[in-house]
Amino acid sequence: MRILVCEDQPDLRRALCRTLEVSGFAVDQAEDGMEALKYGLAEPYDAIVLDLGLPQIDGMSVLHRWRDEGCETPVLILTARSRWSDKLAGFNAGADDYVVKPFEMDEVVLRLRALIRRSAGQASAVLTCGPVQLYTSEGRIVDNGMPVDLTPQEFRIFAYLMHHANRVISRQTLAAHVYDRYSDRESNVIDVLISRIRRKLSINIIHTIRGQGYRLGPPRA
Ligand code: CA
Repeated sequence: MRILVCEDQPDLRRALCRTLEVSGFAVDQAEDGMEALKYGLAEPYDAIVLDLGLPQIDGMSVLHRWRDEGCETPVLILTARSRWSDKLAGFNAGADDYVVKPFEMDEVVLRLRALIRRSAGQASAVLTCGPVQLYTSEGRIVDNGMPVDLTPQEFRIFAYLMHHANRVISRQTLAAHVYDRYSDRESNVIDVLISRIRRKLSINIIHTIRGQGYRLGPPRA
């Protein structure tokens, strides 16, 4: 899972990025509205954090442009203004949720996880495949009741596959949701990560679809 953070205040931006990375996300950052607009259209983020008060192009205009260009990524608005009219304008522009500054970092993480889950069409906060469960709000994996310990990269792949279960996902798509802008993206690394995840699970729920990619689903009979 990969997030774009658009915030011009350096301290807040860094704090958000750090929190999200610790919470298991790959994170890119935009410092102004121009960067935000460009990155948001160029990369397949799972969610975007958007400050409304951005230099160059304000957040609301950026959001309008994303939606006009067909970008459907869920957007969580950060706003210092708590007036309802501002929130309403945000929702009319296509925002999915908002938090009012100052906010708790944990709340941002929680709301982003819920946004990502809902946008993937998952109604339940606990995603299940066979004996394996992903508790989406905590970012916790359990296999037959036992905790599963994945590295951050393994976790991002696994979480993406769980959110998009029973669909064939290409290596390129996985790479785009696992790495930030500055990481090398060798597709064979994805294969290595997948086999490491498989070794940590009691049964195989990640199936190789030859020539296409991977599909997460119940173990084959
Ligand atoms: Ca700002």
